[in-house]
Amino acid sequence: METARFRLVVLLATFFLGAACGDGSGGDTPQPHLIGAPGVTITEVAIYQGPKCTIMSGGVAQTCDVPLINGRDALIRVFYQADPSVVGRTVLGRFSIDAEHTYEVGVDLIAASTEENLGSTVNFVVPGEAINQFLTYQVAFLQEGVDSENNPTAIFPAQGVQTVTVDGIINTFRVIMAPFAYCADGSCRVPDLGPAVLEGFRQRFLQLYPVTDVEVTTRAPHDWNSVIAPNGDGWEQLGMTLAGFRNQDGESADVYYYGIFNPASSFYAYCGGGCMLGVTLLNSSPPAEGNPQLRMALGVGFEEQAADTAAHELGHAHGLEHVNCGYGLDPNSIDYNYPHDPNSIGVWSWDIVNELLLDPDTKTDIMGYCEDTWISDYHYSKLYDRAAWVNLPRYIGSAPQFSYRIVAVDGVGGGIINNSVTRSSHEIKGQPLEVLAHSADGTRLVTGQFFRWDHLPGGFVYVPEQKSPMERVELTVRGVHTFAERRILP
Ligand SMILES: [Zn+2]
Repeated sequence: METARFRLVVLLATFFLGAACGDGSGGDTPQPHLIGAPGVTITEVAIYQGPKCTIMSGGVAQTCDVPLINGRDALIRVFYQADPSVVGRTVLGRFSIDAEHTYEVGVDLIAASTEENLGSTVNFVVPGEAINQFLTYQVAFLQEGVDSENNPTAIFPAQGVQTVTVDGIINTFRVIMAPFAYCADGSCRVPDLGPAVLEGFRQRFLQLYPVTDVEVTTRAPHDWNSVIAPNGDGWEQLGMTLAGFRNQDGESADVYYYGIFNPASSFYAYCGGGCMLGVTLLNSSPPAEGNPQLRMALGVGFEEQAADTAAHELGHAHGLEHVNCGYGLDPNSIDYNYPHDPNSIGVWSWDIVNELLLDPDTKTDIMGYCEDTWISDYHYSKLYDRAAWVNLPRYIGSAPQFSYRIVAVDGVGGGIINNSVTRSSHEIKGQPLEVLAHSADGTRLVTGQFFRWDHLPGGFVYVPEQKSPMERVELTVRGVHTFAERRILP
């Protein structure tokens, strides 16, 4: 992959600027100063904080569908054409936001820029601190000359500045790793979540998610004595326990919990015959913000799979469905609105961690089952739409409280009444189901809210708490009549 970076020609810039700031003692003779370089036309300006966003094309300001994020690092690429007469000439490329954030490079002119050749454009890597609520900029190819030689097509805008609105506020994607010590085989094995591994997760999330920053921390390991099988057996119980951690820990609603465990000594030992790498309750209701109690996912912690598995499963926890790439996908889990070839991410993208330009046809979307994953513009925008409701400043003040009992159903007629959860401000809204709730003081018909697992038959039903504790509930989930009993899990 292309790794060329621009050359920062400080001496050249100093020379030009020195010329521009002459002593003004020239009398009637026009003094040379910096003008738009003759023979050069800026054809496109694009900003990449991930997927490409074109902000100028053919001399006209553009808006793009990819959200821009306040405080997130960016690549600015300036595409141009040069007349044959000036090809090979060295001019000054300048991108200015404000006095503190003006970037200059020496440019050896070529005939025309192309998308696939990073070295053919003039590139500015801009730190996040320079991207605020509005990006106000001017871009120019400059050389020394007199006013009569000035070429306005080498400067955009030709006069003044252009403003781009940055939609995304400064926000942090917070993930708490919840390791389980796998004791079912006597080992009590815990995945490595040392500082280097946590940093690996952080960087992977930062590459793929449209956020300013990512915070990944870990809680103490929780012993787990039941078998977790590659075919999915045992995962639901683990999910139930994970769902209780947020309330136990007193963490706020914006945090995502990620349960992580190694149910064998190696990835091969676990997955040699095929396996499930992770599961999530598809968190798509209500569509805008999902259910805060379901901001969680589960996955294996084997080093070679862990970061991508987590990025995929947390995508489901943001309400994303699958891209139709790879084998073994449940047809009901596929998003057929994906607008690109399922083997492609559709648009050029930038890796802000490693500073690499990415060809869309060499990458597949993180929400499929294929290799060489990245994020498409389609899912980047959807993650942004969700994060805008979630990664918000902390809620201050009192808000109405809604209490629920989680009923975990297995999809084949069984279930467990488990943790109680409390939600502030809004009721939980999933797929509504009628629930017969049996308590010591009688039986009532109430409405529960159902959320299904992505890779398992069952799911969670949130049933409003009753005056006296529910001992048993009856409900029909996806056509299966189901009884759930009260039970305390490990
Ligand atoms: Zn999935």
